[in-house]
Amino acid sequence: MNDLTTSSLPRASGRVSFAQLAAATAPPGPAGGPHHAPRRAGPLDARPTILAARGVIKSYRKGPLAIPVLQHIDLEIAQGEFVAVIGPSGCGKSTLLHLLATLDVPDYGEVFFEGHRIDNLTAAGRDILRNRYFGMIFQAYHLLPELTMLENVLAPAMIGETVFGYWWKRRKYRQRAGEILHTVGLGHRLKHKPRELSGGEMQRTAIARALVAQPRVLLADEPTGNLDKATGEEILALLGRLNREQNLTIVMVTHDHEIAAAADRTVTLVDGRVQAA
Ligand code: ADP
Repeated sequence: MNDLTTSSLPRASGRVSFAQLAAATAPPGPAGGPHHAPRRAGPLDARPTILAARGVIKSYRKGPLAIPVLQHIDLEIAQGEFVAVIGPSGCGKSTLLHLLATLDVPDYGEVFFEGHRIDNLTAAGRDILRNRYFGMIFQAYHLLPELTMLENVLAPAMIGETVFGYWWKRRKYRQRAGEILHTVGLGHRLKHKPRELSGGEMQRTAIARALVAQPRVLLADEPTGNLDKATGEEILALLGRLNREQNLTIVMVTHDHEIAAAADRTVTLVDGRVQAA
């Protein structure tokens, strides 16, 4: 099946394997079939690779000019790892994160999730992948100002379901959203609106929103960039706790070595390539 119809897929709440989704969304032909997970090298070899970029090259076009950003990226993230991608501003960290998240596609190379190629999924397939398997947080919190914190956290579940499907499962979703807000320390703020909260509380809510669909990977782009040092450290401690206690795989982009130190492993980007460790 090439194109994706919502009726052909399991709903967001189902714990479908990614293999089912990949089978439903990949283009026909050899490129769309199952792939063996790329081999990875390194200290976490015992854990399976969950996310990988292989030979990824990306340029942006500005009129007739091609601006090379990623020259040849090979990166493997193990299940349950907390990895920081570090490098100076403009070196391509966000570009790499966007490619891993299928928000953009590489010019060359391939991206894999759980051993399946994902850079070639249909646009609808990529949307579903992000909704169900990837959570994302950014420097800005992107909360909807008119919604309460509980409603903001529920937003991805609403988007991932049909109206009827959401209505049918609304109690379960509300309970889960409430529990996640408790987990991030905001159980007392369910009915507050974003303007009534601090930056740290808004980022905690954004983390809760990213986790409501029980994603396999959390992708974080400068998640402490808008926060003071102490609050940023609290957010990093929360990410570390989610990684350890829930075995959540985290890929975090930052330009700051102190922040990167919160991760298990640091990957440095230099001139569009991963610097050898
Ligand atoms: P970082 O996250 O490391 O700061 P980015 O990945 O955001 O770097 O950007 C890498 C380079 O790509 C920068 O030179 C930036 O100006 C350029 N760039 C990023 N996005 C675009 C775009 N959509 N169009 C053109 N150039 C872009």
